[in-house]
Amino acid sequence: MTTWSFSILAKSVNCFNGLRMQQLSVQQDPDYLAMVCTVDPFLWATLNEIQLVAGPFKVRGHEYQAGIMRDESPRIVVRKATQVGITEVFVLRSLHRLITGMYRLGILYLFPTRDDVTDFSTSRFNPLIKDNPELIGSWVQDTNRANLKRVNHGYLYFRSGRLSQEVEGEKTSSKLKSIPVDACIFDEWDEMDPGAQPLALGRMQHSEYKHEVYLANPTIPNYGIDALWQQSDQHIWHIRCEHCNKYVAPDLAFPDCLQRRQDGTAYLACPKCYRDINPANGEWIPQKDNAKYRGYWVSHLIASTVNLTDMLDEYESGDFDVANFYRLKLGLPYLGAKEGLQPSDLYRLCSHHPMRLSAKGPSAMGIDIGKRLHIVILDKPGENKYRLLWCGAVETFEEAYDIGHKFNVKAAVIDKYPETRTARKWGQEADWPTWLCEYRESTHGFSHWDEHNQEVYVNRTEICDEIHNLVKQQGKFELPRLNDRLQEYIEHMCNLVKTEKVDKQTKVVKYIYTKTGDDHYRHATNYAWLASTKIGLSEENVSYGKLPKCFRHTRKNWMTM
Ligand SMILES: [Zn+2]
Repeated sequence: MTTWSFSILAKSVNCFNGLRMQQLSVQQDPDYLAMVCTVDPFLWATLNEIQLVAGPFKVRGHEYQAGIMRDESPRIVVRKATQVGITEVFVLRSLHRLITGMYRLGILYLFPTRDDVTDFSTSRFNPLIKDNPELIGSWVQDTNRANLKRVNHGYLYFRSGRLSQEVEGEKTSSKLKSIPVDACIFDEWDEMDPGAQPLALGRMQHSEYKHEVYLANPTIPNYGIDALWQQSDQHIWHIRCEHCNKYVAPDLAFPDCLQRRQDGTAYLACPKCYRDINPANGEWIPQKDNAKYRGYWVSHLIASTVNLTDMLDEYESGDFDVANFYRLKLGLPYLGAKEGLQPSDLYRLCSHHPMRLSAKGPSAMGIDIGKRLHIVILDKPGENKYRLLWCGAVETFEEAYDIGHKFNVKAAVIDKYPETRTARKWGQEADWPTWLCEYRESTHGFSHWDEHNQEVYVNRTEICDEIHNLVKQQGKFELPRLNDRLQEYIEHMCNLVKTEKVDKQTKVVKYIYTKTGDDHYRHATNYAWLASTKIGLSEENVSYGKLPKCFRHTRKNWMTM
């Protein structure tokens, strides 16, 4: 291995917490430094000034990277902004662990698409080998493949996670099938096919490490990287203010943590005393104990290479893409009004009548099958008007019959999966026509009713849009008075969020509804609404009625508190 000069070590030593200057000053010999570099990837990269595409790997402005790079936790989650150097951190850490022989099997590095794999391999990984011939290049045996490199004893596999079969290896190369690895790194986790995860993790069965790393810019709350972050110990970069001596976290104090000097330029400010703080004086502090994942949140606020004046100008202008600002600069998920239903959209639909116990009908029933049966009963008080009479979850199919009779159900739509046979039998024995519903991507122009098989096919996005619009448009959908069960119903209704997916290979933009929590009542509502197209208007055509507006206003405040 190369030897290092002590002066370089002394320059970088202030930014790592594990070793103290005094400890090192008595041990200046190259062997000792080589040993330190063997166990510490951050020191290895900084002391050797590893050449990245943008220049040598540096400490300044990237102090937050040290703790992440050294972290040996088995499951790491980084919820991050763009261009904060986290991909480099894990590439260098991966190389370090292979070169030092810690990982002897290898690493599976996953990207959303094949194009991402190629881009990464040619624009980031190959230059790293070329620009660091002795330190890295000499360890890499080029296997003449963009997506496979041998490093020391182990292999580095670059794969696309969009197509699950790629994770297991290409069919033509039986050598790649289920080759064991020590670590899986999921880069751009929110863009990845969730089916790739179990396949990838399955390849670590024979490893003594089984390390998992998840990296992404967040998209929507409680989905993807943000869902993992919520289950993590949530490390946030805290900076010691040299003026008031408090530890403060800029990420928790935006926009107060950005202040302007007299000349108009912005600086990172202590949210307690508003004097300037230096991100280099920081440390990672967890917000929770005993979590499943080790979590880090990296935003532009703690990466001092970012131009804070531009960031504050943009924020104050008011004229910017809010979603991208949150996701790509603050490293926070963002949910726009167009993308999902908010609880307030549904509170607005509540009347003052309690949930019904029975009705004259005709009514329509929708059943979502999970561990329990989630049922929604609707009727139609007028043309294009819908009323939720009842919702609830029951344990057995028999109970679902009883409820159907109480509400004089005249049509039902039930989830075709996972219990197709039971669902079909239930429908055949019911006193009302029942259809089994299947979501099919190929179905367009709404629903296709197969009367012979008593099945209905519908495009998932289209039916979810329909119910979204039903809630958003005034006067079309009515809910009973709020109680605990309706509160749960409202939560389920808000747990499906519309997201845009661009297929990087075909460039086709697709919209899909993504689940961010339990969503059984939302699907039961889809089914009940489909069933309602088969029934007539309610015999109880008197609406629940609305409270006068002045009451509604106060009631809404009370409910949304
Ligand atoms: Zn202060």
